[in-house]
Amino acid sequence: MTPADVLARGLADLRSRALARRRRVADTPCAPRIRIDGADLVAFASNDYLGLASHPVLIDAIAAGARRYGAGSGGSHLLGGHSRAHAVLEDTLAEYAGGFARHPRALSFSTGYMANLAILGALAGRDATIYSDALNHASLIDGARLSRARVRIYPHADAVALAAMLDEDRGGGPKMIVTDAVFSMDGDVAPLGELVALAERHQAWLVVDDAHGFGVHGADGAGTVAAAGLRSPLMVYMGTLGKAAGVAGAFVVAEETVIEWLVQRARTYIFTTAAAPALAHAANASIALLRGTEGAARRRALRAHIDTMQAFIARTAWAGSATPAPTPILPIVIGANEAALRLADALMERGFWVPAVRPPTVPPGTARLRLSLSAAHEPADIERLGAALMAASQAADRTCTP
Ligand SMILES: *Cc1c(COP(=O)(O)O)cnc(C)c1O
Repeated sequence: MTPADVLARGLADLRSRALARRRRVADTPCAPRIRIDGADLVAFASNDYLGLASHPVLIDAIAAGARRYGAGSGGSHLLGGHSRAHAVLEDTLAEYAGGFARHPRALSFSTGYMANLAILGALAGRDATIYSDALNHASLIDGARLSRARVRIYPHADAVALAAMLDEDRGGGPKMIVTDAVFSMDGDVAPLGELVALAERHQAWLVVDDAHGFGVHGADGAGTVAAAGLRSPLMVYMGTLGKAAGVAGAFVVAEETVIEWLVQRARTYIFTTAAAPALAHAANASIALLRGTEGAARRRALRAHIDTMQAFIARTAWAGSATPAPTPILPIVIGANEAALRLADALMERGFWVPAVRPPTVPPGTARLRLSLSAAHEPADIERLGAALMAASQAADRTCTP
């Protein structure tokens, strides 16, 4: 067998297990109404929870940023690529999302993936132990591997099990607790208050990945930690700017010593070209929207959609899969890969795009539809999808009961 034959065999295997994925090509901006692979659909697929990705203010801000700073940054942050737009963004984020810290400082990254590699790689060395929630995002898992620290996985959202692990390891090397704030495929929220208490008791770093909560949670959208009113100098907070904020990029907020260490040591910060300043400029405009009355109004609209859709799901065969947390990610857990694909196809025939998510993105046997809501949906979109789900649930009941 040639090396390419090995790959071809692997691809055939993925197809035979209904695990092959394919990309759909969008001809329209990110919005609830999209044209994808030539079909007009109402999408429940994006992480654009507040509908800002095609907001005219942000589109204009990218254009204005490009006119002022050019199309590209031209270099890494330490070698000339750090613009005024990046500096302003960091100062704004430190103040906006840094309420947990005594001396908050922020650092901007091109992506959340790189930010997580930076945090785990630079703050946890070989002698450290990382305690990682079983359902953490892939970028946190990869960051833990890259750090070469010892990794202990604790059962999902189980602060009691985590406490027992930390007690067993008492007196060992440096410790770091790592968690998603809002879990990306389940939509539930980590027990952050308990995690802060454990971090304080064991003097462990607490890394919180708020990719899905920043912009959505809290009265002013400052995120899940701010919404919970938690404070700790051990907190290392990561938020992304490509989801609710509608642009691209990510940031870390922590005590200034932590941030300075990342500037000096984080390889995914140092050895990469800085994101286009125009994007940082647009991110600043997005934060102004998030903090203002428009952000608040959009969060209210989103919340109403979440309540309505949760009530619909509660009346289907998949009632058990909806988390009670008011987050815009609503999983409909089906189980088998083929069955999840069938339901996604049935909804697509009715004009809805609700993506099926399969392993390895989720644990084996928990294939699901990942329904995500946006403030940009119309109430009628929610009602129509809810009705379609109820109809599909009744059809599933008739054909087979799992
Ligand atoms: C999307 C996501 C990331 C990665 O952020 P990008 O900016 O898309 O690279 C990290 N963590 C979680 C939980 C995410 O959902």
